[in-house]
Amino acid sequence: MMNQCGWIALTEPSPGHAPLRGAQKADWLIIGAGITGLSAAHSLAELHPQARIVIVDRQRAAQGASARNSGFAVAHENPADNELLGHNGFADYQADTLIGLAASQEVRTRIARHQIDCEYRDSGYYFAVSDPGKLCRVEARLQTLNAVGASAQFLQGPQLAKTLGTEHYQAAIWCGNGNALLQPAKYVKGLLDALPESVTLYENTEISGLERLSDGQIRANGPSGNVTARQVLVCLNAFIPRAGIETSSTFAMELSASLTRPLTDQEFAAIGSAAPWGVLSTRPLGATVRLTPDRRVMIRNTAEYRTKDLTESNLLLRRKHHALGLQRRFPGLSEQDIQYTWTGHLSASRSGQPYFAKVQEGIYAVAGCNGSGVARGTLWGRLLAELASGASSELLHSVMHRAQPGWLPPRPFFDLGAKVRMRLEAVRARTEI
Ligand SMILES: Cc1cc2nc3c(=O)[nH]c(=O)nc-3n(C[C@H](O)[C@H](O)[C@H](O)COP(=O)(O)OP(=O)(O)OC[C@H]3O[C@@H](n4cnc5c(N)ncnc54)[C@H](O)[C@@H]3O)c2cc1C
Repeated sequence: MMNQCGWIALTEPSPGHAPLRGAQKADWLIIGAGITGLSAAHSLAELHPQARIVIVDRQRAAQGASARNSGFAVAHENPADNELLGHNGFADYQADTLIGLAASQEVRTRIARHQIDCEYRDSGYYFAVSDPGKLCRVEARLQTLNAVGASAQFLQGPQLAKTLGTEHYQAAIWCGNGNALLQPAKYVKGLLDALPESVTLYENTEISGLERLSDGQIRANGPSGNVTARQVLVCLNAFIPRAGIETSSTFAMELSASLTRPLTDQEFAAIGSAAPWGVLSTRPLGATVRLTPDRRVMIRNTAEYRTKDLTESNLLLRRKHHALGLQRRFPGLSEQDIQYTWTGHLSASRSGQPYFAKVQEGIYAVAGCNGSGVARGTLWGRLLAELASGASSELLHSVMHRAQPGWLPPRPFFDLGAKVRMRLEAVRARTEI
């Protein structure tokens, strides 16, 4: 099988759950059992211990993007030039980072509460480049990151090569304090396995739309059954249009990644027995790379706006691109050393901010994780449950205030614009793939 997620393959499967059949009733319905939906389910069960909560997923739960991502729990994003200390975007960057810090804390809290074994390492990550020109204004960047609570350090030359076990990267900012790495399939499985009894899960059930009934309740229709509930939380992320919500101003991107076999003792010694690490690119289309605790290398170096999903043969070509990125970093590795290759969908927006809203009476939705939904999805799930429950907090206000995904032109203009932008970004990232 070509499209096989390595993280999922290396994780013990959770027990299966039946599809939705017949007419079911619930107090709360959650659509989408990824990080966001599962986090919302936990929060609703904590807020309303007597309530009947139903969660539905179109495939096996916890096997979408939430299991297929690169496993960075992001508190601090790399600041854009206009967000550097002293510039007019700094206040917004500061507000976003407070949300990011709360989100990474939410991940830690969930892991501790449910004792999730997901190879969590609170050891920070690197914004690293092979072309030093792609990491500009280093001093201002360090000051900015440190001003918002990060612990940031600049590395280059032999010190960097020794730390990462590769001479590919020429400069990096290590960014700690809230930034962590985890095995994503194990994290989201942990959220799934810890669901309390008040939550009923239906798997392999695709919801095709929401219907408002005459008594004000909402009915979600699946192929062999339906659920009627007073309150519905839509946690579909890239698939939000499938619930009939077309106004989120978000769009889906398809990403692909590969994971190698574990390095042998000899290969590991040759790279200096480096400790596990994670590297984020400073360019949107640059590679995300990890050396995992079990000595595998993961690379994600494609991200595409597509109107049709990648086919098997498309994915084969993407795997060659992964192999090229691997060889640049670790010349001893080739395509034959790749054990797993897979795709996943994320939800993006023009501004980089999410859609987080009460859509209409009883319907709440979130989308637009923009590649940092491990931590933010965990937080948004809780906050969406709180919003729908009528709760209020400074953090919820801040998230709602920042949730402005930006305007998208109508199709086909959007399709054309997105393709041109992607090509431009690919050229800008060509030294970093
Ligand atoms: C390759 C890749 C790398 C990434 N790397 C990172 C990273 O390092 N750090 C980070 O923070 N983020 C990363 N992301 C983004 C991150 O994975 C997402 O932001 C996060 O998983 C979103 O979680 P979610 O629960 O909102 O969505 P999902 O995990 O996508 O869950 C949505 C669920 O809805 C289900 N569904 C879809 N349609 C229907 C329907 N009609 N009816 C019922 N169910 C339906 C799907 O099956 C899915 O399980 C990455 C994403 C990808 C694809």
